[in-house]
Amino acid sequence: MKKPTNIILLGPPGCGKGTQAKLLQKKFNLVHISTGDLLRQEVADKTELGLRIKSIMDQGLFPTNEEVTEVLENRMQKPDCAHGIIFDGYPRTLPQAEYLQTKLTSKPIVILVKISDEILSERILLRRSCPKCGSIYHLKYSPSKDGYTCDKDGEELIQRKDDTAQVLKQRLEMYDTLTSPLVDFYKRHSLLHEVVADHFTIDEIFAKILEIIERTHQ
Ligand code: AMP
Repeated sequence: MKKPTNIILLGPPGCGKGTQAKLLQKKFNLVHISTGDLLRQEVADKTELGLRIKSIMDQGLFPTNEEVTEVLENRMQKPDCAHGIIFDGYPRTLPQAEYLQTKLTSKPIVILVKISDEILSERILLRRSCPKCGSIYHLKYSPSKDGYTCDKDGEELIQRKDDTAQVLKQRLEMYDTLTSPLVDFYKRHSLLHEVVADHFTIDEIFAKILEIIERTHQ
Protein backbone atom coordinates (compact mmCIF):
# COMPACT_ATOMS: atom_id res chain seq x y z
CA MET A 1 0.00 0.00 0.00
CA LYS A 2 1.29 3.47 -0.91
CA LYS A 3 2.34 5.50 2.11
CA PRO A 4 -0.14 8.29 2.86
CA THR A 5 1.06 11.72 3.91
CA ASN A 6 -1.14 13.44 6.44
CA ILE A 7 -3.95 11.74 8.32
CA ILE A 8 -6.32 13.55 10.68
CA LEU A 9 -8.20 11.38 13.18
CA LEU A 10 -11.40 13.01 14.32
CA GLY A 11 -13.83 11.75 16.96
CA PRO A 12 -14.94 12.17 20.57
CA PRO A 13 -12.67 11.42 23.52
CA GLY A 14 -12.39 7.67 24.00
CA CYS A 15 -13.32 6.70 20.44
CA GLY A 16 -9.95 5.00 20.01
CA LYS A 17 -8.09 7.68 18.01
CA GLY A 18 -4.92 7.23 20.04
CA THR A 19 -4.87 3.46 19.63
CA GLN A 20 -5.49 3.68 15.87
CA ALA A 21 -2.89 6.45 15.53
CA LYS A 22 -0.26 4.19 17.11
CA LEU A 23 -1.12 1.35 14.68
CA LEU A 24 -0.94 3.74 11.71
CA GLN A 25 2.37 5.11 12.94
CA LYS A 26 3.82 1.59 13.01
CA LYS A 27 2.41 0.59 9.64
CA PHE A 28 3.44 3.69 7.68
CA ASN A 29 6.28 5.06 9.76
CA LEU A 30 4.58 8.42 10.04
CA VAL A 31 4.96 10.79 12.99
CA HIS A 32 2.11 10.54 15.51
CA ILE A 33 1.25 13.89 17.06
CA SER A 34 -1.21 13.82 19.95
CA THR A 35 -1.72 17.38 21.18
CA GLY A 36 -3.19 15.88 24.38
CA ASP A 37 0.12 14.06 25.01
CA LEU A 38 2.15 17.18 24.17
CA LEU A 39 0.07 19.30 26.55
CA ARG A 40 0.23 16.66 29.32
CA GLN A 41 4.03 16.68 28.89
CA GLU A 42 4.05 20.47 29.38
CA VAL A 43 2.07 19.95 32.59
CA ALA A 44 4.40 17.16 33.78
CA ASP A 45 7.46 19.31 33.03
CA LYS A 46 5.86 22.23 34.89
CA THR A 47 6.70 24.63 32.07
CA GLU A 48 5.16 28.10 32.10
CA LEU A 49 2.48 26.88 29.70
CA GLY A 50 2.00 23.65 31.66
CA LEU A 51 1.36 25.50 34.91
CA ARG A 52 -1.13 27.76 33.15
CA ILE A 53 -3.18 24.98 31.56
CA LYS A 54 -3.10 22.25 34.22
CA SER A 55 -6.41 22.99 35.92
CA ILE A 56 -8.10 23.75 32.56
CA MET A 57 -7.16 20.30 31.29
CA ASP A 58 -8.09 18.60 34.57
CA GLN A 59 -11.59 20.04 34.19
CA GLY A 60 -11.95 18.79 30.61
CA LEU A 61 -11.84 22.31 29.18
CA PHE A 62 -9.63 23.51 26.32
CA PRO A 63 -6.52 25.67 26.57
CA THR A 64 -6.71 28.54 24.04
CA ASN A 65 -6.23 27.85 20.33
CA GLU A 66 -2.97 29.84 20.50
CA GLU A 67 -1.62 27.73 23.36
CA VAL A 68 -2.42 24.44 21.65
CA THR A 69 -1.23 25.61 18.26
CA GLU A 70 2.07 26.76 19.76
CA VAL A 71 2.92 23.26 21.05
CA LEU A 72 1.77 21.75 17.76
CA GLU A 73 3.91 24.13 15.74
CA ASN A 74 7.00 23.41 17.82
CA ARG A 75 6.53 19.70 17.19
CA MET A 76 5.78 20.12 13.47
CA GLN A 77 9.02 22.03 12.98
CA LYS A 78 11.10 18.94 13.78
CA PRO A 79 12.59 17.32 10.66
CA ASP A 80 10.92 13.93 11.22
CA CYS A 81 7.55 15.53 10.35
CA ALA A 82 8.56 16.22 6.75
CA HIS A 83 7.23 12.88 5.47
CA GLY A 84 3.78 13.00 7.02
CA ILE A 85 1.92 13.24 10.27
CA ILE A 86 -0.97 11.50 11.98
CA PHE A 87 -2.91 14.19 13.84
CA ASP A 88 -4.60 12.78 16.95
CA GLY A 89 -6.71 15.32 18.84
CA TYR A 90 -5.90 18.27 16.58
CA PRO A 91 -7.77 20.14 15.21
CA ARG A 92 -10.55 20.38 17.79
CA THR A 93 -12.02 23.78 16.88
CA LEU A 94 -12.80 25.54 13.60
CA PRO A 95 -9.96 28.10 13.95
CA GLN A 96 -7.54 25.18 14.49
CA ALA A 97 -8.88 23.40 11.39
CA GLU A 98 -8.53 26.57 9.32
CA TYR A 99 -5.01 27.06 10.60
CA LEU A 100 -4.03 23.49 9.75
CA GLN A 101 -5.35 23.85 6.20
CA THR A 102 -2.84 26.67 5.68
CA LYS A 103 0.01 24.55 7.04
CA LEU A 104 -0.39 21.29 5.14
CA THR A 105 1.18 21.09 1.73
CA SER A 106 -0.90 18.08 0.63
CA LYS A 107 -4.54 17.15 1.22
CA PRO A 108 -5.01 15.22 4.44
CA ILE A 109 -7.11 12.07 4.75
CA VAL A 110 -9.63 12.89 7.48
CA ILE A 111 -11.15 9.95 9.33
CA LEU A 112 -14.05 10.40 11.71
CA VAL A 113 -14.25 7.57 14.24
CA LYS A 114 -17.94 7.35 15.20
CA ILE A 115 -19.04 5.81 18.47
CA SER A 116 -22.08 5.91 20.76
CA ASP A 117 -21.98 7.74 24.11
CA GLU A 118 -22.64 4.59 26.22
CA ILE A 119 -19.68 2.77 24.75
CA LEU A 120 -17.54 5.87 25.21
CA SER A 121 -18.12 6.05 28.94
CA GLU A 122 -17.14 2.43 29.47
CA ARG A 123 -14.03 2.93 27.40
CA ILE A 124 -12.92 6.08 29.13
CA LEU A 125 -13.67 5.09 32.69
CA LEU A 126 -11.81 1.79 32.39
CA ARG A 127 -8.92 3.24 30.37
CA ARG A 128 -5.46 3.09 31.93
CA SER A 129 -2.18 4.27 30.43
CA CYS A 130 1.53 3.99 31.03
CA PRO A 131 2.96 7.31 32.23
CA LYS A 132 6.35 6.37 30.76
CA CYS A 133 5.73 5.03 27.23
CA GLY A 134 2.11 6.10 26.65
CA SER A 135 0.79 2.56 25.99
CA ILE A 136 -2.97 2.42 26.41
CA TYR A 137 -4.84 -0.44 28.12
CA HIS A 138 -8.45 -1.15 29.01
CA LEU A 139 -9.25 -2.99 32.25
CA LYS A 140 -11.89 -5.15 30.52
CA TYR A 141 -11.03 -5.35 26.81
CA SER A 142 -7.27 -5.05 26.62
CA PRO A 143 -5.75 -5.32 30.10
CA SER A 144 -2.01 -5.55 30.62
CA LYS A 145 -0.75 -9.03 31.61
CA ASP A 146 -1.02 -8.41 35.36
CA GLY A 147 -3.73 -5.77 35.09
CA TYR A 148 -1.83 -2.93 36.74
CA THR A 149 1.66 -2.52 35.27
CA CYS A 150 2.76 -1.82 31.69
CA ASP A 151 3.72 -4.91 29.63
CA LYS A 152 6.48 -2.94 27.90
CA ASP A 153 8.33 -1.30 30.79
CA GLY A 154 6.74 -2.49 34.05
CA GLU A 155 5.65 1.04 35.00
CA GLU A 156 2.53 1.25 37.15
CA LEU A 157 -0.48 2.17 35.00
CA ILE A 158 -2.41 5.33 35.77
CA GLN A 159 -5.86 6.69 35.13
CA ARG A 160 -5.79 10.13 33.50
CA LYS A 161 -7.11 12.88 35.76
CA ASP A 162 -9.69 13.79 33.11
CA ASP A 163 -10.91 10.19 32.65
CA THR A 164 -13.53 10.42 35.40
CA ALA A 165 -17.32 10.41 34.95
CA GLN A 166 -17.74 14.08 35.86
CA VAL A 167 -14.94 15.37 33.63
CA LEU A 168 -16.01 13.09 30.81
CA LYS A 169 -19.38 14.85 30.71
CA GLN A 170 -17.59 18.18 30.26
CA ARG A 171 -15.28 16.75 27.59
CA LEU A 172 -18.23 15.39 25.62
CA GLU A 173 -19.92 18.78 25.83
CA MET A 174 -16.74 20.43 24.51
CA TYR A 175 -16.72 17.90 21.68
CA ASP A 176 -20.35 18.53 20.78
CA THR A 177 -20.11 22.31 20.79
CA LEU A 178 -16.60 23.01 19.52
CA THR A 179 -15.30 19.93 17.70
CA SER A 180 -18.33 18.38 15.98
CA PRO A 181 -18.65 21.38 13.55
CA LEU A 182 -15.41 20.09 12.03
CA VAL A 183 -17.37 17.21 10.52
CA ASP A 184 -19.17 19.68 8.24
CA PHE A 185 -15.99 21.63 7.66
CA TYR A 186 -14.18 18.58 6.28
CA LYS A 187 -17.29 17.40 4.40
CA ARG A 188 -17.35 20.75 2.61
CA HIS A 189 -13.72 20.23 1.68
CA SER A 190 -14.58 16.68 0.48
CA LEU A 191 -11.99 15.24 2.81
CA LEU A 192 -14.13 13.36 5.33
CA HIS A 193 -14.36 9.58 5.71
CA GLU A 194 -16.28 7.81 8.43
CA VAL A 195 -15.60 4.64 10.36
CA VAL A 196 -18.11 3.19 12.83
CA ALA A 197 -16.30 1.89 15.91
CA ASP A 198 -19.23 0.53 17.97
CA HIS A 199 -18.95 -3.24 18.56
CA PHE A 200 -15.83 -3.64 16.41
CA THR A 201 -12.43 -4.77 17.64
CA ILE A 202 -9.32 -2.60 17.40
CA ASP A 203 -8.07 -4.74 14.49
CA GLU A 204 -11.38 -4.54 12.64
CA ILE A 205 -11.44 -0.75 12.94
CA PHE A 206 -7.84 -0.59 11.80
CA ALA A 207 -8.70 -2.71 8.74
CA LYS A 208 -11.52 -0.29 7.85
CA ILE A 209 -9.13 2.66 8.16
CA LEU A 210 -6.60 0.95 5.91
CA GLU A 211 -9.33 0.36 3.33
CA ILE A 212 -10.14 4.08 3.32
CA ILE A 213 -6.47 4.97 2.93
CA GLU A 214 -6.08 2.51 0.07
CA ARG A 215 -9.20 3.83 -1.67
CA THR A 216 -8.33 7.51 -1.33
CA HIS A 217 -4.60 7.45 -1.71
CA GLN A 218 -3.86 5.75 -5.03
P1 AMP B 1 -6.77 14.09 24.53
O1 AMP B 1 -5.57 13.39 25.09
O2 AMP B 1 -6.73 14.22 23.04
O3 AMP B 1 -8.08 13.50 25.02
O4 AMP B 1 -6.72 15.59 25.09
C1 AMP B 1 -6.76 15.83 26.48
C2 AMP B 1 -7.01 17.29 26.76
O5 AMP B 1 -5.98 18.09 26.18
C3 AMP B 1 -8.30 17.87 26.20
O6 AMP B 1 -9.42 17.61 27.02
C4 AMP B 1 -7.96 19.35 26.16
O7 AMP B 1 -7.97 19.92 27.45
C5 AMP B 1 -6.50 19.32 25.70
N1 AMP B 1 -6.37 19.33 24.22
C6 AMP B 1 -5.75 18.39 23.46
N2 AMP B 1 -5.77 18.74 22.16
C7 AMP B 1 -6.44 19.91 22.10
C8 AMP B 1 -6.83 20.77 21.04
N3 AMP B 1 -6.52 20.49 19.75
N4 AMP B 1 -7.50 21.90 21.35
C9 AMP B 1 -7.83 22.20 22.62
N5 AMP B 1 -7.51 21.43 23.67
C10 AMP B 1 -6.82 20.29 23.42
